[in-house]
Amino acid sequence: MTTRNLIMAGALAFSSMLIHAQDANTKWENLPIPSNNWVEMVYNAKATTFQLWAPTAEKVCLRLYKEGSNGKAWKTIQLKKGTEGTWSKQVEGNLKGYFYTFEVKVDGTWRGETPGINARAVGVNGHRAAIIDLKDTNPIGWENDKAEYRLFESGAIYEMHHRDFSMSENANFKHRGKFLSLTEKNVKTLKGSPAGLEHLKRLGVSYVHILPSFDYASIDETKLNEPQYNWGYDPLNYNVPEGSYSTNPYQPEVRIREFKQMVQALHEAGLKVVLDVVYNHTFNTEGSNFERTVPGYFFRHKKDGSLCDASGCGNETASERAMMRKFMVESVEYWMKEYHIDGFRFDLMGIHDIETMRQIRFVAEKINPRVLIYGEGWAAGTPALQPKEAAMKSEVYRLKGIAAFSDELRDALRGPFSNDKQPAMLAGLLGNKESIKMGIVGGISHPQVDYSKVNYSKAPWAEQPNQLIAYVSCHDDMCLNDRIKNSIPNLSEQELIRLNLLAQTLVFTSQGIPFIQAGEELFRDKKMVHNSFNSPDSINTIDWSRRDTHADVYNYYQALMNLRSQELAFSLDDAQKVREYVSFLPSSETMIAFRINGKSPIEESELDYVIAVNLGNKSEELQLPHQEYRLIMGLGVDALGNSINSNDIQSSEYDGCVPQRFMLPPKSSVILRPYSIERMGN
Ligand code: CA
Repeated sequence: MTTRNLIMAGALAFSSMLIHAQDANTKWENLPIPSNNWVEMVYNAKATTFQLWAPTAEKVCLRLYKEGSNGKAWKTIQLKKGTEGTWSKQVEGNLKGYFYTFEVKVDGTWRGETPGINARAVGVNGHRAAIIDLKDTNPIGWENDKAEYRLFESGAIYEMHHRDFSMSENANFKHRGKFLSLTEKNVKTLKGSPAGLEHLKRLGVSYVHILPSFDYASIDETKLNEPQYNWGYDPLNYNVPEGSYSTNPYQPEVRIREFKQMVQALHEAGLKVVLDVVYNHTFNTEGSNFERTVPGYFFRHKKDGSLCDASGCGNETASERAMMRKFMVESVEYWMKEYHIDGFRFDLMGIHDIETMRQIRFVAEKINPRVLIYGEGWAAGTPALQPKEAAMKSEVYRLKGIAAFSDELRDALRGPFSNDKQPAMLAGLLGNKESIKMGIVGGISHPQVDYSKVNYSKAPWAEQPNQLIAYVSCHDDMCLNDRIKNSIPNLSEQELIRLNLLAQTLVFTSQGIPFIQAGEELFRDKKMVHNSFNSPDSINTIDWSRRDTHADVYNYYQALMNLRSQELAFSLDDAQKVREYVSFLPSSETMIAFRINGKSPIEESELDYVIAVNLGNKSEELQLPHQEYRLIMGLGVDALGNSINSNDIQSSEYDGCVPQRFMLPPKSSVILRPYSIERMGN
C-alpha cells in the first residue's frame, strides 16, 4: 500500500535542486514541449536519430558505446539545439547493437550520463540505452495477438510477482522467476495437478496483474545467480521491461521479446494483462534520468527547495507539469501499443493530478475501449497539489473509468492497516457492517448504506460500482491467512480456512471488481512478515504443493470465480441497477444478507440471488423472500439448510429447496438461487 520503506540510501541529495526550486512553477510553465509523441532514438539501417528534450541545457552530448556496461565511449557527439526545447543529431551508419547515453550541462555543470527519460531498450542494469529495431523483438504471431473479452467472465484480478509465482520447487517450472514462466503450458505440481498458466486459466481469473515489471533498480542484473528479491517499486526506466525477469539481461532484445511472449501466452489462455505502474516516484533523485535531463523539472519541491515526498520513497513526481504529464500518457500508450497491455494499476495514484489521469483514460480508451485502469487512491504523505486536484479515492467519482482500492471493505473484514493485530468483523466485532455493505454495492450511493457509519469514507466515492476494487489482501501488508492468524489467535486450521473463505465470499459477491493476491487460493502464508518487499523467496514464494494439500480452498476460490462468470448478477456495472437490484435483508450487526433481484442487463432472464454471511459468534435466522431458494454454495450449511462442520463447498445435489427460514450457524455463508431458475438450466 503506502509505506514500503524502500531502502533509499543515498537517494536524497538536495544541492542542485535548491537553485531550481525558486519560482519553480512559473519557470517550468514557460518551457516549450515537443508537439509530437516523444521518442529519443529513431533507428534506421542507414542512420539513427537521437534527440533529447532538455530545454534548460547549455550543451547536450551523446556517447555511443559498443557495450551495454563498462568500456569507454566509442564516440562522443554534440547534439544541436532545435525547436521546442529539444536537442538532436542524426548519426550515419547502421548502429544496431550499439548503446548510448546522453549528458546535459545545466548551470555550468555536467549532470551525469543518462539513457534519457524514454529509453525503450537498455543494457544490463539499465544505465545505457540500446539501439535496436523493435520489430526484431516480436514473437511469431505477434501481429495477431490481442485480448479476448467474453460476455461472461469473473472480472477477477490476480496480483502476482514473477518470483512468488514460479520459484517453488514444488512445481516443474523451467524458467523460474522469469517472464517465460507464464508461457509454460504443462507445469504441474509434484502430484500432477495443474500449476502455472494452466492453473490460472482453470481458476477463472480474468486479469493477471503483474507487480512492477518495467526496469527497476534494486536488483543487480549482473548477479542473477545470487538470490535477490524485490517487489520493484523503485523505477529506473519506465518504458523497458525489467532485466532480471529475462533469461539474458545483457542482450537488450531478449527482455522485450520474452515480455511479449508472456503477454501472448496469457492472451492465448484467455487472460488479460495488467501492468503495475509507478510513475509517482523514482528510485533516486539526483541520479535519476529525470533529474539528469532537466534538473528540477520532474519532481515537486517545497518552498524551501527541498523535495516533496508524498511517496515515502524520497521524492514525488510532478504529473501536473506538461512534460511529465505527456510522459505518463505516452508511456501508457506505448505499453498498450508495443506490448499489448490491457490494464494498468497506478501505484499511489493520489500523487497524480486528476487531469493527467483523465488524459490517460482518454488516450488508453482510444486504443482499447475496455482498458482496465485502477489505482491506489491515496499517498504515503500529502502530495503538493490542491486537495481537489489529487487523484485520491475521495475524487474517484470524478474519474470516469478509473477505479480505486477500497480499504473500507478490506479493513472492516480483517482490521486496519495501521495495526495488524487488531481484528474486525471476521472476529465477529461490531461496528463494521455499513463498511462491508458499502463494499458490496461498489462504493456508490445506495439507500440502504449509511455512510455516516462507514469506517473511512463518510460519503460514496464511486459514481459506478466498477470503480471500486474489492479485496482483503494484496502484496502489501500481511497476506490473508497471516493477517487472520495474527489478529485472531488460537484458530484451528479448519477455522482459519473458514474465515479466509468467508472473507472472499464477500469480496466476490461485491458489485466492485474482485481482486486477490496470488496464492491466496492455495492457502499461502508469508510466515507472518508484514512488509515482504525484499524478503527472501522462502517468505514470498507460493508453495505449489498446497494446490494438492489445500484443494478445498482452491475449489472454493474457483467456485467464486465461476459464480461471477455465470451471468452478470455480480457485475451489474451500473449504479442505478445496483440501487434497484441489490437490497439488504434484515440481519444483525455481524451478519450481511442481501438479495440481487431484477432483469438481467443483457438477457430476458431474471436474476435472483440471496447471499448471507454470518460472521457473528452465534447462530442467526435467515428469512428468505420466498420459498423457492436452493443452495448454490454454502460454507457450514448443507443443501437442506442444516448446520454442518465442513469446509467443503456445499452445493445442492438435493432436488429441493432450503426452508424459507433457517438458522445460519456462526461463521457460515450461503449463496442461494431460486429453484425455478435453476431448473431452467441456467
Ligand atoms: Ca533492472
